[in-house]
Amino acid sequence: MKNDQNGRKVLLEVRDVKQYFPVKKTKLREKQRYVRANDGITLEIYEGETLGLVGESGCGKSTLGRTILQLYPQTHGDIIYHKDGQAIDLKRQNAEQMRVLRKDLQLIFQDPYSSLNPRMTVGQIIGEGLTSHGIFKKNDPAMKEYIFQVMEECGLATYMFNRYPHQFSGGQRQRIGIARSLALRPRFVVCDEAVSALDVSIQSQILNLLSDLKAKAGLTYLFITHDLSVVKYISDRIAVMYLGNLVELADAEELFSDTLHPYTEALLSAIPTTEEDGGRERILLEGDIPSPVNPPEGCKFHTRCRYCQEKCKHEVPEWRELSDGHWVACHFPLHENNAPTGEVIE
Ligand code: SF4
Repeated sequence: MKNDQNGRKVLLEVRDVKQYFPVKKTKLREKQRYVRANDGITLEIYEGETLGLVGESGCGKSTLGRTILQLYPQTHGDIIYHKDGQAIDLKRQNAEQMRVLRKDLQLIFQDPYSSLNPRMTVGQIIGEGLTSHGIFKKNDPAMKEYIFQVMEECGLATYMFNRYPHQFSGGQRQRIGIARSLALRPRFVVCDEAVSALDVSIQSQILNLLSDLKAKAGLTYLFITHDLSVVKYISDRIAVMYLGNLVELADAEELFSDTLHPYTEALLSAIPTTEEDGGRERILLEGDIPSPVNPPEGCKFHTRCRYCQEKCKHEVPEWRELSDGHWVACHFPLHENNAPTGEVIE
């Protein structure tokens, strides 16, 4: 097990990970172009934490979650999984080794409507992984008892065992998806927009369930969402992503109280506040997120940044740790003493 400088146990290391997908050519001699979904990502995920990953749709956050789980082999870089004193390089595992490791590394999908097989009962859906990983033999009576236990943990009544997904509401279907993943007793779970398709009142129930299950089982979550207000309540740390790169990473509270990156500032300003909170200025980001096939030079955010200076248009900002555990990629972070003017460039 690897520890960081503060003694926290590192579960996963993501080292300079790139994930490029080739774009289909339209002409014979056309140069091959790539969607740079992840463009050099480095971070550590600590055991027992919830790491929130936020950014606009299409910024590459789901791709990163799936790449960590090796659902897509990365184009470049390493993902190291620490288990039983071993540092396992996931890229170097063959299909059978990866199949065994997949029990530890699970995914909860975004869409509870399409991620469940409509022809399988709840019992079959939850039991499928248990038999394929050899935890139980098919028709083992002990498996039914175990599935009942998991269903109860996930807030599903056991009489639902023989029902089909279409007989459930969205929130209940998401509970089935969670039960399916957590029945395997994983160590690390990627929750990919796990509550985004649900009504707000159901969202909080599912978030509470995920928090309770994490506390009981000592799980580690990568919680992916486009909604900063959701991750605020569930995350220990939050990483902010823009156009394939991380732009800021900090403890959740510090990200809100001592924001360093202009993009994070804009995302935070979009969270609704009450007048009692004092309100806050809404920063409107102009223009769409640029194409990941042909991203802007220099700082990728410069085309939309209200603090952009000449340097930003040409030089890629370094990913650096400005204070203990607070990382940022910006030439002129907010609140930094050596910020050039702190003025908004109109
Ligand atoms: Fe804005 Fe420049 Fe910082 Fe990029 S490097 S976020 S353009 S101030």
